[in-house]
Amino acid sequence: MPIETGMFDGLGASYEDGSKAALLSAIARSAEELTSGKGWPEGVNDLLAALGRVTGVSRVWIFQTVALTPTHITQNYAFEWAAEPRYRQIGMPMFSMFTNPIDQPGYRELIQSRRNGEWQKILTRHLVPGWLFDSQTLQGIKSMLTIPVMVDDEWWGTLGFDDCEREYDWTDVEIALLRTAAYLISNAVLRDRLSAKRKQFDILRRITDSSAWSFDFTTGQVWCAAELIHSMPMPAENIYLSLRAGLRLLHPPDRHALLRSVRDHMLGNKDVFRQDLRLVTDCGDLRWVELVGNLRRSGNGRPEQLAGIAVDIRARKQEEERLREEAGTDPLTGVLNRRMFWREMQAQLDLAVDQGDPFALLVLDIDHFKILNDNYGHGVGDVILRGFAERCASAVRSQDLVARMGGDEFVILLPGKRCRAARNVAERILENVASAPFPVDARDHQVTASIGLYIHDGSLSTPARVFERADEALYRAKRQGRNRLAEAGECLCAE
Ligand code: GH3
Ligand code: MG
Repeated sequence: MPIETGMFDGLGASYEDGSKAALLSAIARSAEELTSGKGWPEGVNDLLAALGRVTGVSRVWIFQTVALTPTHITQNYAFEWAAEPRYRQIGMPMFSMFTNPIDQPGYRELIQSRRNGEWQKILTRHLVPGWLFDSQTLQGIKSMLTIPVMVDDEWWGTLGFDDCEREYDWTDVEIALLRTAAYLISNAVLRDRLSAKRKQFDILRRITDSSAWSFDFTTGQVWCAAELIHSMPMPAENIYLSLRAGLRLLHPPDRHALLRSVRDHMLGNKDVFRQDLRLVTDCGDLRWVELVGNLRRSGNGRPEQLAGIAVDIRARKQEEERLREEAGTDPLTGVLNRRMFWREMQAQLDLAVDQGDPFALLVLDIDHFKILNDNYGHGVGDVILRGFAERCASAVRSQDLVARMGGDEFVILLPGKRCRAARNVAERILENVASAPFPVDARDHQVTASIGLYIHDGSLSTPARVFERADEALYRAKRQGRNRLAEAGECLCAE
């Protein structure tokens, strides 16, 4: 047959016990079982049994190092395979979470050697009289091979082979093969730890509606769990991105804010990093999250990694928005919002009808604001909107009301103002805006606005109708070339 195929399970099953090939194939079979079959801890018992059978020892065991102090060591007899029931020791009271003083002749060196990741062969007959010799003799051990199980470069435990019937001198090749088996155990421990962490994280994620992320300062790489940016469950569990690609996942106005906040965190002394921002999901939705994390620095103080969780705060943001709406302020600029404006307009109209109080309404709109946004980004646009609102507010009295209707459109309600006074306010604002540029991030932006003015003459009207008249005037100002004031109808004031 030109091509032979077969399952791995049967491979080497017919090798004679004790041969290197039998040992190798036993390890290979157990590798598969430990990584994809029974896993930890069940697969370990099968590995020990396979190793025990092919090596012909009396007992194979694993001790887990539970605690190690300068004077004592506490270990647990975690796994065992015994060739015959009389060799069984697991479960004996003396081996359950047992503590030994390290300061025994030869024992301290043995422990140190295991911590160094070295193997140890012991021929009991050759041991100097003392505690270790007595202990081996008590257990009926004639010779022993121990191999440390290292996890994350630390001594996690020991894989041991006891011979009670023979004095066996392990060859280098056998030791090397058994070391591979110890690595399999290390891997299984690591996988078990990871799966425990994963379970913990899944529980946390479910309870707190959060996901994980990290930024590595040395590689410049962003990592995040897939569900953070995918609206549908994805098979990929990890997403690695360059910083630039990571920033592209953020709503544009939030990118600067995040970078600034990371910089401030690195310079400051707060333990916890926090930042609210909006993510753009793969279907284009915006999702509010709060990044909570902390910074890890290297020994010389250089930032290594900023990592943490991203908590879904959609509900909180909706609630904040609702409260702000109720409070009546525009979140970006701090002036009144449109809802409050309509309410104030109605009150003003009622006064005008009842008592004949005049009032003026200005509708203001920044000229070519879209171009500013397109050229310099929404973040810059936002700063300009804030500055524009400030310049409007500084041009009016405390009883006048400035509100943002949305986008780059604002209104100013001037109670008691007649034509000339209202015109003066409008001219002052045009001057305030156009005379000095708006500095943002070391760049000056020249901005102008157009204004529509309507003076209420005391006739019966509605807030919407009043607004409409001023808005019509605004569009006339735009058509006439912008950076100017246009008035609705004829000025009928006696001024
Ligand atoms: P015109 O002179 O005719 O007013 O031109 P314009 O470019 O200013 O046009 P328009 O007033 O229609 O554009 C308003 C722009 O404001 C469109 C929108 O992208 C932008 N915008 C709306 N809300 C916000 C915001 O909260 N922040 C920022 N930065 N931009 C916004
Ligand atoms: Mg505009």
